[in-house]
Amino acid sequence: MEKFVYDFAEGNKDLKDLLGGKGANLAEMTNLGLPVPAGFTITTSACQRYLSDGSHVEGLAEEIDDHLAALEREMGRSLGDPADPLLVSVRSGAKFSMPGMMETVLNVGLNDESVAGLSRQAGGNDRFAWDSYRRLIQMFGKTVCDVPGAEFEDALHEAKVRKGVKDDVQLDADDLKELVTAYKKVFAKHTGHEFPQNPREQMDLAIAAVFRSWNADRAVLYRRQERIPADLGTAVNVVAMVFGNLGADSGTGVAFTRDPATGESGIYGDYLQNAQGEDVVAGIRNTVPLQDLEKIDKKSYDELLRIMAQLEGHYHDLCDIEFTIERGKLWMLQTRVGKRTAAAAFTIAAQLVDEGMISLDEALTRVSGAQLAQLMFPRFDLSSDPSPITRGVGASPGAAAGEVVFTSAHAVAAAAEGRSVILVRRETNPDDLPGMIAAQGILTARGGKTSHAAVVARGMGKTCVCGADEMEVGRDQFTVNGQVVHEGDTVSIDGTTGRVYLGAVPVQPSEVVQYFEGDLDPALANEPLVSAVHLLMTHADSAARLAVRTNADTGADAARARRFGARGIGLCRTEHMFLGDRRPLVERLILARTEAERNDALSALQPLQRADFLQIFREMNGLPVTVRLIDPPLHEFLPSLEDLAVQVAVAKERGEEAEHDERMLAAVRRMHEQNPMLGLRGVRLGLVIPGLFAMQVRAIAEAAVQLAAEGGRPRPEIMVPLVGAVQELETVRTEAEKIIAEVVGSSGVQVLIGTMIEVPRAALTAGQIAEAAEFFSFGTNDLTQMGWGFSRDDVEGAFFWRYLELGIFGISPFESIDRDGVGRLVRIAADEGRATRPGLKLGVCGEHGGDPESVHFFHEVGLDYVSCSPFRVPIARLEAGRAAVESAGSDHR
Ligand code: PEP
Ligand code: MG
Repeated sequence: MEKFVYDFAEGNKDLKDLLGGKGANLAEMTNLGLPVPAGFTITTSACQRYLSDGSHVEGLAEEIDDHLAALEREMGRSLGDPADPLLVSVRSGAKFSMPGMMETVLNVGLNDESVAGLSRQAGGNDRFAWDSYRRLIQMFGKTVCDVPGAEFEDALHEAKVRKGVKDDVQLDADDLKELVTAYKKVFAKHTGHEFPQNPREQMDLAIAAVFRSWNADRAVLYRRQERIPADLGTAVNVVAMVFGNLGADSGTGVAFTRDPATGESGIYGDYLQNAQGEDVVAGIRNTVPLQDLEKIDKKSYDELLRIMAQLEGHYHDLCDIEFTIERGKLWMLQTRVGKRTAAAAFTIAAQLVDEGMISLDEALTRVSGAQLAQLMFPRFDLSSDPSPITRGVGASPGAAAGEVVFTSAHAVAAAAEGRSVILVRRETNPDDLPGMIAAQGILTARGGKTSHAAVVARGMGKTCVCGADEMEVGRDQFTVNGQVVHEGDTVSIDGTTGRVYLGAVPVQPSEVVQYFEGDLDPALANEPLVSAVHLLMTHADSAARLAVRTNADTGADAARARRFGARGIGLCRTEHMFLGDRRPLVERLILARTEAERNDALSALQPLQRADFLQIFREMNGLPVTVRLIDPPLHEFLPSLEDLAVQVAVAKERGEEAEHDERMLAAVRRMHEQNPMLGLRGVRLGLVIPGLFAMQVRAIAEAAVQLAAEGGRPRPEIMVPLVGAVQELETVRTEAEKIIAEVVGSSGVQVLIGTMIEVPRAALTAGQIAEAAEFFSFGTNDLTQMGWGFSRDDVEGAFFWRYLELGIFGISPFESIDRDGVGRLVRIAADEGRATRPGLKLGVCGEHGGDPESVHFFHEVGLDYVSCSPFRVPIARLEAGRAAVESAGSDHR
C-alpha cells in the first residue's frame, strides 16, 4: 500500500514532489543533525487523494496514528495531555513555494485543561499559556472553520480598549483568559458548535483544512500566475511546537546566507525577541537586524552562523532560513534555496564558482535568459529613495514615466504631440490597443499576469503594471490610499517590481547592455554583476551547440547585433527596404503596363538594393548573412483603398486631372485581398512578377562580389519565403543560379540557396523540398499562424487573454513554441529534410528564436542556429549554453 506519512528522518531534499519543499528540507536538515523539532510529513499524494476522493483517504488515519505515537515517544509527552501537553503545528508545504497562499495552524493540542499543563511547562507562565490558547482558537477558527478573522481582531481590540493599552503584550493572563472566552463565543456563533476540545480532532481537522487550502481562491490564482500545475497538491507537516514567545530569552527570526537583492555575502536577516513567527509576518512589532542577536544571545547567534555556513556548503546555494529560539535553545524551522533578484542570481552563481562550490556548468543552470532580459531593461535610479504610492503585479518589465491619461484616445493625442504618457485603466480591452501602442507604459487596477493588458504589453515589449488593486480608477483621476492623481500628473511605473511612484523617477541605462555594447564605464568593469555576466556568457558560448544569429535589415542593427555576439544574420527582411522614399519606385513597378516600364522600375531599385546589401555584408564580414527575397503582399506598399477612392472622387468632382490616382485605384482594387496573409506574398510574388526576384538576386550577388573585391569575406545565403512545394523553389532556384553564375564569375564568392519552412505543407514535404534547398530556416511566426489558424495580427489582443484564463495554453504560442503541434512540424521537417540531405543547415528565424523555452526545444530538435532580434541575442546565447549543459546532464543520468 502507498505510504502517505514520512518521519523527518525518512525524507531528503530531493523528495520535493512527494514531501513538498518544506517537508523535504526539514528532512534534509534532520539528517544533517541540525536542531529540527521532531515531526512528520503527510505527502502531496495524500492531498491529491483527499481532494479527488472527497475527503476519505484509505489508510491515512492509521499511518498518522503510528507517526503521532512515535512523535509522542520521542518528545516524552502526548498530544494535548492535560498535565504535560505536546503541542504541534500543522503547516502546508507544496513542491513550489507559494508564500502565504495556504494555511498553517499553530498550538494544536491546547484546550481548557491542557492550557494549565502548558503553563506549568513554561514555569508557571499563565500569560503565555492563555496567549497560546487564544492564538489557536483564532487560527483554527479562521483556517479550519472559515470564521471571519475580523471578528477575532475586533474582540482583541476591545480587550485592549477595556484595559486601556495599545499593545498585545500589555494584556495579562486574566485579560487573555477573558479573551479566550470571547473568542470561543465568536467561534460558536459562526460554526454553530463549541471549539473542539479533543486534541486529535483538532489535528485531523487542521490537516484537512491544509489539504483544502490548496484549492483556495488565492492559491488557484497564484498558481495560474506562476504557472504552477493545479494537480500537485500540498504536503502537510506536523511538527512539535517550540516557542519563541516564552520571554526575553526566546524569539524568532529569518536569515539569508547572502543578500538576496545583490548576492553579496554576509549576514542578512531579522530577529524579533519574545515572539512567534506570525508576529513577524503580521508586522506587529519591529524586528531588529539579525546582527543584534549577537548581543542578545551570543551562544544561539554563533550556532546559527555555523548552521548557515553548513547549509550553504551543503546546498551550494543561497539559503533562506526560519528559526526560533526557545529559552536560549536554537531550533531550525525551515530552510530552502532562497529566492533572489536577477542581479543576485548572476552574482551568486559566479561567486559560488569562485569559491569552488559549483562548476561553471552548474552555474549556468542557476541563471536564466529571463533574468538576463530583466538586467537589460533600463531601471529606475532609486538613489533618492522614492516611496511608491502603490504596488501591482510587475507584468511586463522596464521602467516608464509619463503623464497619466485615462483613455486610449488621450494617449494617442498626447503621444502625437510628443508627450510621454502612462495609460491608466481599470482594466484594458481590445479597444485600448491604439492607446497602449502610443503610451510609454500601462497601469491597470485589475487583472494579473495573464490579463489582457499584461499579454498585449509583453507582446509589444511595453512596460506594464497591472492589478494595482488599491487604486480606484475614475474618469479623469485615480485615488490610491487617500491620494488623488489627476490626468496630466506624472507617474513612474516599474514593470519588474510592480511599484508605482508619483512624479518622474530618473531612468538609468542598464550596465549589462553597456557591457555588451562595449561602452561600459571602465570604473564599472570589475563590478560583481558585470564580471558575473562576463563569466557566464563566456561559458555559455563555449558550451553551446546552437549558434545564435540575428534578424537585422540595416547596417546599424547588424553592427549592434554583432557587438551583442551574433554569429551572422539569420533573417534580413528585404521588404523593409522598399518603404520610405523608395515607395514611388515600388508604385511604378506595380503600375507598370509594359515589360519596359517594369524593367525601368526594377533597374532603378537594383542599385539601391545592392548598396543595402553591401552595407550589411560589410558589417557581418566573414559571417553568414541570410537575405530573404521580398515577402509581404505588394498592396502593403500602396495607399489605402478608401483614401484613394475619396481622392479620385473629389478630383473628378472638381474636374481635376486624376489619371495617376485612377490607375493606382484600379491596381489597388485589383490587388485587394480578403486574407492578405494567405494571398499573393512570398515566393508567389516572385513567380508572378517577372524580374522581381531576379533583381534582388543580382543585387545580392553583386554586393558580395564587391565586398570580395575589397578584400572582405562575404557569405551570402538567399532565402525564398513561403514555399509550400518543391516546384516553387526549383523554379526560383533555376533562375537564381543562372544569375549568380553570371555575376560571381571567378570571384570565388559562394552563394547558398535555401528556403523558409513556414507553411505546414512545406514542413510535411520537407523531404522533397530539401532536394532543392541548401538550408531551411523555420519561420515559426507563420508556421504558428497557419498551424493554429490564428491571424498573427489580430488574435493576441482579441482573445488570447481568455485562452490563457481557460488554460487552453499557458503562454501565447506566438511567444513560446507550441512543442506538441507547431514544434512537431519543425521536428518532422528537420528529420525528413536531413534524411534527404544530411548536411542540410537548419535554423529558425521566427520570434521564437529569442524565447528561452523555445531555444531549448530547438536545441533538442538539433537545429544549427537560432536567429532573433539584436536585443535578444545575449538571451539566446545564454539559453543555448544552458540547453547544451542541461541536455548533457540528462544524457549522463
Ligand atoms: C516567420 O514567419 O516566422 C518569419 C520569420 O517571417 P515573417 O515574420 O517576416 O513573416
Ligand atoms: Mg513568415
